[in-house]
Amino acid sequence: MAQTVLDIFLVIIIAHYLIERLISNLNFRHLNDAMPASLNTIYSETDYKKSQRYRRINSSFKMITSTFLLLLILVMIGFDGFAFVNRFALEISTNPVLSALIFFAVIFSAKELITFPFAIYKTFAIDNEYGENVKSGGAFIFSMFKKWFADAVLGGGLITLAILLWTKTGKNFWLLAWAIVTVVSLIFYFLYTKVIFPKFTRHEPLDEGVEKQAILDFVHRVGIDVDDVHVIQGNAPASNAKVFISGRGSEKCIVIYNSLLNDMTVAESLALIAHELGHRSKGHAFWKGIVRFAKNGLMLFALSFVLSTPLIFEAFSVYEPRFHIGLMAFLIVYAPLSFLLGIVPKFMSRWHEYRADAYAASFGFSNDLASALKKQSAKRSTNLTPHPLYVFFYQSQPSLLTRLKKLDK
Ligand SMILES: [Zn+2]
Repeated sequence: MAQTVLDIFLVIIIAHYLIERLISNLNFRHLNDAMPASLNTIYSETDYKKSQRYRRINSSFKMITSTFLLLLILVMIGFDGFAFVNRFALEISTNPVLSALIFFAVIFSAKELITFPFAIYKTFAIDNEYGENVKSGGAFIFSMFKKWFADAVLGGGLITLAILLWTKTGKNFWLLAWAIVTVVSLIFYFLYTKVIFPKFTRHEPLDEGVEKQAILDFVHRVGIDVDDVHVIQGNAPASNAKVFISGRGSEKCIVIYNSLLNDMTVAESLALIAHELGHRSKGHAFWKGIVRFAKNGLMLFALSFVLSTPLIFEAFSVYEPRFHIGLMAFLIVYAPLSFLLGIVPKFMSRWHEYRADAYAASFGFSNDLASALKKQSAKRSTNLTPHPLYVFFYQSQPSLLTRLKKLDK
C-alpha cells in the first residue's frame, strides 16, 4: 500500500514536470516569431528582439534548473533521504517543534547550497548581460543573506505556529488554520490597503489644467463624488489598485498612479482610468478575495489530509508520524497542486481584464485604450506571441493581441 502511495506521489511530480516543460517548449518556439505588423510602430525592433532573446535564454535556464531539482527530489525519495534527515533531527531533539526546525534547516540549507551556483550563473551570466538587475558581488551576497534570514524567521515562525495548532486540534487543523489565515488577510486588507496605505503614501495634487479637468469630468460622470485628483509617483504594486479614492469629506480625492498618466495623451489616460474604475465598479477585488479564500481552504485541507494519513509517512519510510515529514510530503506536491488550483483564479483574472476593457469601451474609449495598452506593453517589452496554453496556465493578464482584438469588436 505504501508503495502505491509513493507511486502516486511520483506520478504527480513527474506529470507536473512534463506538462510544465511541454508548455514552456511550445511557448519557446513562438519566441522567434516576428513582431505582429499592427504593433511595429510602437515597439522598437531591436529592443523587442533583445527582450525575446532574454526570455529564450531564461526559458532554457529554467529547463535545466527544474530538471535538476526534479532529479534531486527523486534521489531523496529513492534513497530514503527524508527518513535519514528525520533520524538525524530526532537524535538531536525529540521535541516536535525543535526536531521540525532542525529537519527543515538541514533540507533547505542543503537545497540552497546545491542550487547556489545556479543563482550565481543567473545573476552574473544572464541578467548582467541583458542589463537586468545589474548587481555587484557584494550586493548579491547581501541580498542572498537577507533572503535566507527572512526565510528562516518567517518559515521557522510559521512551522512553529502550525505544529502548535496541529497538536491542539488534530483533524480540525485545517478549519482553524483557514479561519486564522482569513482573519489575518482581512485585517491586513482593511488596515493596510484601506487605511494605512492611502493615508501614509505620498500623493500630491495633479497640476491644474486640461488633464485634471478632463479626469474630474469623467469621474463625476460615473458617479464618483470627489473634488481633486492626486498622483502617486512610481508603479503600483501588484496588490494595489492603480486608481483609488482617498480621504473623507472635503479631503476626498481620487488618487492615480502616474504610470497611467506619463507618456499618455489625455484621452489615453482617461481610457486607462476608466479601465481601473471598471474593476472597481464590477467588484473584481471582492471576487478575487473569494477565490483566494477557497484556494487557501483547499490547500489547508490537502495539508491536513497528508498529515493525518499514516500511509504517506510510510511511503517516505518514516513509521512514526511526525508533523515535519507530513509537511515535507505536502511541499513536494505543493507546486503541482497550486498549478492546478491556479487555473480558475488566472482564468477569472483574465476575464476581469476583458470586462474592465469593455467598461472603458462603453464610454467610447476603445481606440484610446488600445493605443494606451500598446504603449504600456512596449514599455514593459511584453511577449507579443505567447502560446495560448501558456496564457491559459500561467498568465493572469490576457495577451495584448487578444485584448486588442476584443476591443476592436
Ligand atoms: Zn485591469
